[in-house]
Parts: sequence; C-alpha cells; structure tokens
Amino acid sequence: MDGTRNDGIGGGSRREFLKTAAVAGGAAALVPAGSALADTTELPTVTLGKTGQKVPALGMGTSWAVQPSFVQAALAAGVRYIDTSENYEGGRAEETLGVVLERTKMRKEVYLVTKNGRNKKNPAAYEERLNGSLKRLRTDYVDCYYLHGLEGREIALLKDPEVKASFERLKKSGKIRFCGLSCHDGMLPEIVTAAAECGWIDQIMIAYNFQTMDGDAIRRALDAAAKANLGLVAMKSQGTPQGPGGGGRGRGRGRGRASGGAEAPQGPNPLDKLKGLMEKGFKKEQAAIQAIFHDGRMQAVVSEMTNRDQLRDNLAAAARPKLSLRDQQLLEEYRQATAHLYCHGCDHHCGPAAGGIAVADILRFLRYDEAYGKRTRARELFQALSPEARDIARADLAAAEAACPHGLPVADLLRRAESRLG
Ligand code: SF4
Repeated sequence: MDGTRNDGIGGGSRREFLKTAAVAGGAAALVPAGSALADTTELPTVTLGKTGQKVPALGMGTSWAVQPSFVQAALAAGVRYIDTSENYEGGRAEETLGVVLERTKMRKEVYLVTKNGRNKKNPAAYEERLNGSLKRLRTDYVDCYYLHGLEGREIALLKDPEVKASFERLKKSGKIRFCGLSCHDGMLPEIVTAAAECGWIDQIMIAYNFQTMDGDAIRRALDAAAKANLGLVAMKSQGTPQGPGGGGRGRGRGRGRASGGAEAPQGPNPLDKLKGLMEKGFKKEQAAIQAIFHDGRMQAVVSEMTNRDQLRDNLAAAARPKLSLRDQQLLEEYRQATAHLYCHGCDHHCGPAAGGIAVADILRFLRYDEAYGKRTRARELFQALSPEARDIARADLAAAEAACPHGLPVADLLRRAESRLG
C-alpha cells in the first residue's frame, strides 16, 4: 500500500460528491439523513501494478441485487473502485451502476471493472459482449475488462493469439484501458502463473484470504505475478464465514459448520482464537481484510458489502493501521483451527476419486447459497455446469471424502448441494 491518501481515482471529497449529486437532480436524497455513513472514509491508495493507476485499497463487489441507494451511499462513504460483471443479476448490477454513475456524474472518479462472463472461447464476440456492458453502464469505456472466472480447463486462452488480439483491439479502441482476469478455480496457482507469463494481462483478481494464503504453490505463483508487475486484487476476502453454534465433523479439532456439514458441535469454539483481536475492537471480518494487506503483494481487496454496517466496517478496516505480529499470529491460529471447515479448492485430490465431478465448484456454489445467502446465483451456477460435472448421483462420494486431505465431510456436502441447488 502506498499509504497515500485519495488524490487519484479515489479523489473527490464528500462535499464535492454531495454538490455534484445535488446538481444531478436530487440524487443526494438517496443517502439517508443521519446515515452511519455520513462521513467519507479516507482510504489509502495503492498503485495497481503495471496499470500504474492509483486506486483505493478497497473496492466494492456487486454480484448481488445491489440497489441504487446503496451504490450512492457507498460513493458518499468514499468507495471509488467498483467491480461488476455482465453476469451479475443478469446484467442488472451493471444497469444499476450505470444509473447512479450517470446521475451523480461520477463515472470518471471511479475505477470501474467489468467482465466477459460468456463466450470466453469466442474472441470474435468479445466486442459485442463489451458493448452490452458499456450500454448498461452508460459509459464509453471501462478501466479494466476481465475474462470472468477463468477456469483451469480454459487456461490455454491466455496463450491464444486471437484472445490476446481481441483484447488489444478493445484497448486500442479506447473501450477498455487495461486487460485482466478473475479466478477462483482450484487451479488458481497455474492460472496466476500463466497470467504472469502471457505478457498481455495487466491485472488479476483472485480468491485469496487468510484461510487460503498459506500454500507454497500460490505463494510461488504470486511471486511470479508480482515480478511481472501485475495489478493484484483479492476477492472472497472473508473465506468461509464461521460462527459458534454450527455443526461440522471437524475430526475433533473444533466446531463450526463446514459450508454445510453434520450437526456435531464439540471441542473449543474456533472463534475463541480471535478473542484477543476482538477485544482490541477488531471484528473478525475486519481482521480478514487486514490480513490480506499484510501479504505485501496484494494491492487491493474487492469486497462484497451488502449492507451499510459491512460497508462501514470494511472501509474502516482498510483505513486502519496494520495488524501487529501478535494479531497475525491469532489469525493464523484461527485459520489452523478452522482448516477442516472449508473447501480449499484443491479438487485435483478429490475430483478424480469422485469420478471427475467438479467438487470444488459445487462446494463453492453451496457456500454462496449457505454462507452468503445467494441461492439464486448458486443455483444458476450449479445448473450451468455440464451434466457430467454435476452428476453427483454417479460419483464415488466415499472415495472423494477419503481423498480430501482437509477432512471435509465431502459426501454430506455434495448430497446437500444436489438437494439445494439441483
Ligand atoms: S473437498 Fe477437500 S480435496 Fe476436494 S477441493 Fe475441497 S478441500 Fe480440496
């Protein structure tokens, strides 16, 4: 983090915002009087790798039914980096952002990212897809355009000359400023490495949090990405939310609910590990955001903030001093105590044993449903898998469970995913 204050894309004071909004015809009225977000949080800015852009260290994700009043409250509170996609809510997220950015005349103050979520294998269609996004966003350019959710089986796209040429044409046309990708696939290290090597990707956004940042493979991949000077943005910063009173097999190491799992509370509550942090006024969610910045390579976090309390807490977390060594140690102890409660996305272990079904994807969708309350989105994603990839009935669930090195109750979780999302 540069530690500098908003003076680039993140610039613009709340007073200026309200003035602009008032000129724009009453938009300021959308910000509730006496809102807890009455004051703009001055976020530190970061330089986003080789894009050279100074952006706030915290961005807002929009893969939910985001409302105009919430977007406007976020802008008033200091958000100047917004991430969206043509996929989110069937394009309605882009439409909502377009309405607010046009009404407030703040398009140029925001670092705006959207994504190509369909027809990734057809570079000839990229411009048409982008044009749809630009129309919904009511703008003639986006700051960065991503290949959305690149999967391991699509990794060859990064070396495909037609894909590269298509992105470069969009850059030359001025419709996009930078090229990127997002990824939460089990082959994340391989994809990050390929992005670092391909030469045309400027920025990446990856699933990365205190629960997943300990692997050697991802460390090496991020070293390569940092060396290639890619802009590095984390998403899924909270990992799998845990709470007391859940269930989970846990092999006697704690209790919690494993993104679903059997009811078997036992042993100490993993959240006890965080008492020291909480006594200092940190919420677990805030510590999770701070942990990402401690990595030293991640430049920004895009966080899905779906209510005003989360927005306020996350802005405060991004703006507050770094965690102490003791705080980091407490977070690490919490990570170790909960490692058996979340899927690490490593389905090269369990996938072949299960007969090739997409275990990590399915458990991620179950998490969207159960932990984040996004059932519609989770069902859509599950249904979009190929019939073979979601054929849980034919999978060898016992073998998959035995192959999981983290001790997840894979069979229970997959059965529940099928009944909830199938
Ligand atoms: S179920 Fe276990 S082995 Fe399979 S992806 Fe998740 S953590 Fe890895």
